[in-house]
Amino acid sequence: MKKAERLQNLAPYLFAQLEAKISDAKKQGIDVINLGIGDPDLPTPKHIVAELQAQAETAANHQYPTSVGMESLRQSVANWYKRRYGVQLDPISEVAALIGSKEGIAHLPFCYLNPGDVGLVPDPGYPVYQAGITLAGGQCHFMPLKAENGFLPILSDIPTDVCRQAKLMYINYPNNPTGAIATRQFFHEVVAFAKEYNVLIAHDAAYLEVGYDGYEPLSFMQVPGAKDVGIEFGSPSKSHNMTGWRIGWVVGHSDVVKTLVTLKSNIDSGAFQAVQYGAMIALDSSQDALEEQLAIYKRRRDIVIEALTTMGWQLGRPQASIYIWAPTPNGMNSIEFADHVFSQTGVVITPGIGYGAEGDRYFRISLTVDEARLQEAMDRLVKSNINFMQENSK
Ligand SMILES: *Cc1c(COP(=O)(O)O)cnc(C)c1O
Repeated sequence: MKKAERLQNLAPYLFAQLEAKISDAKKQGIDVINLGIGDPDLPTPKHIVAELQAQAETAANHQYPTSVGMESLRQSVANWYKRRYGVQLDPISEVAALIGSKEGIAHLPFCYLNPGDVGLVPDPGYPVYQAGITLAGGQCHFMPLKAENGFLPILSDIPTDVCRQAKLMYINYPNNPTGAIATRQFFHEVVAFAKEYNVLIAHDAAYLEVGYDGYEPLSFMQVPGAKDVGIEFGSPSKSHNMTGWRIGWVVGHSDVVKTLVTLKSNIDSGAFQAVQYGAMIALDSSQDALEEQLAIYKRRRDIVIEALTTMGWQLGRPQASIYIWAPTPNGMNSIEFADHVFSQTGVVITPGIGYGAEGDRYFRISLTVDEARLQEAMDRLVKSNINFMQENSK
């Protein structure tokens, strides 16, 4: 069967190949430690699960939900923005529910791109930005995220003709895969850029609640003018270990929220209401479980950073996200390095190329395995001297 061209234009999914390699190794009896998984290992807090169970019993929840989401969930999202970020949102016109933020991120380009229109995408970046733009028939212009710029794109480096053709820009802080955070100044520049070139800003805030050492990540909505030029995607997936539930939200510019809901209402019928009740509880109740979980990630982060430092890497401790992003030794390409590490140690790290060409001299470690296994992985790396090529520079 001949597939449509839009599918042929999608980037090959590197992670499928990686999965095959892992399953082969496991069959051979190798004790694989997978540090490649961007999915929290800890369970959803019990009170949230209990709410889902109770709501699943209610017949009213068994019917079609609305595409826009329950008003009570949208109110919870608005309250949470007010409480945590001092941001005022109208729950009716400026908040909508999504079937996970990935769903909204992927559908947005269908609302704003005509064939050939340009979408601005960070490189490295979450692969869904590129996929959504490509499926909608748009063209991606990649904005390189470089260590020397704190992994923030330099907007003045985007060629003026590209700025004029651009309809949409994705940004994502705290960032996957780099763990970088945005500055307020950067968000101000983004708003000014959006106004000058009439570009819709879509901020992916999946890690908004995942900060360490007292650092509280910024919401794009906190910057004056943000709501006039953009939207922000959020979800309890990473903060409340709810990746499997498939619930998220979009907030901000009311026309954009409405347009996305119009598109969605032609495709999906919203998230199961019992799941929406779960998300409400996640936002409305005590955040103690989140605090405990952040303490766990922080200890894991420190284990990885200390091991990498022992091996000769010079890295700061990321203040947010659940990832460590580090350069490969002596500029080795990322697949070669990840293969080398895997064959020497049975430890899976993610080759940076999976997030874009700029990532090809990097690898990502996820903090989604428990401390004992993480320590075991790090011990294996230290023992096998995986940083062999940096010996001279120590
Ligand atoms: C995990 C992740 C998401 C998706 O979250 P869902 O709400 O579960 O769809 C979005 N953006 C980034 C950068 C992520 O890492």
